[in-house]
Amino acid sequence: MILSLALLTSCTRASATIATAPAASSDAEYFEAHPLMVPVEGVNPRDLRDSFNDARDGGRIHRATDILAPRGTPVVAAIDGEVIRLRQNSAGGITAYLVDDERRYVYYYAHLDHYSDKITEGLRVQQGFVIGYVGTSGNAPPDTPHLHFQAMRLDPGQRDWWNGTPVDVRQFITRTGKVRE
Ligand SMILES: [Zn+2]
Repeated sequence: MILSLALLTSCTRASATIATAPAASSDAEYFEAHPLMVPVEGVNPRDLRDSFNDARDGGRIHRATDILAPRGTPVVAAIDGEVIRLRQNSAGGITAYLVDDERRYVYYYAHLDHYSDKITEGLRVQQGFVIGYVGTSGNAPPDTPHLHFQAMRLDPGQRDWWNGTPVDVRQFITRTGKVRE
């Protein structure tokens, strides 16, 4: 951070390179060291369909991964981290936000059928801990149970953690979803 600021003041061209190229590689490096698990029990990473750039209502872009599974399938923590918010909203339905231990990425889970009775806001969870169960709450089609899973990168020290930058982490999900209690 200090290095990039120093370059920014001394050389505009160099700082532009610094600002773009390492951002993607730092995602890759981070997830190589912290492999993500498919956040749905029994789903293999190879079976994840790319839905990140799908169009949505109102000209929006999805910027998330939809993971289809039968209603009631356990939804698990993709990372070791903390449950930071459990809320309901009209689009997402029953939702959860998790953050990894290093506070680099926030993970938004939506359309749950219901929560696990073991989770609470502030709970520390390990990868594979059951968060809830696949459903169609919110605006999910009633005949298409799925988990809407979105990763958001936080800037260092970012306080509005719900406004992180969406990142397509599908390529970084390397572990099959597996419940670990
Ligand atoms: Zn979705």
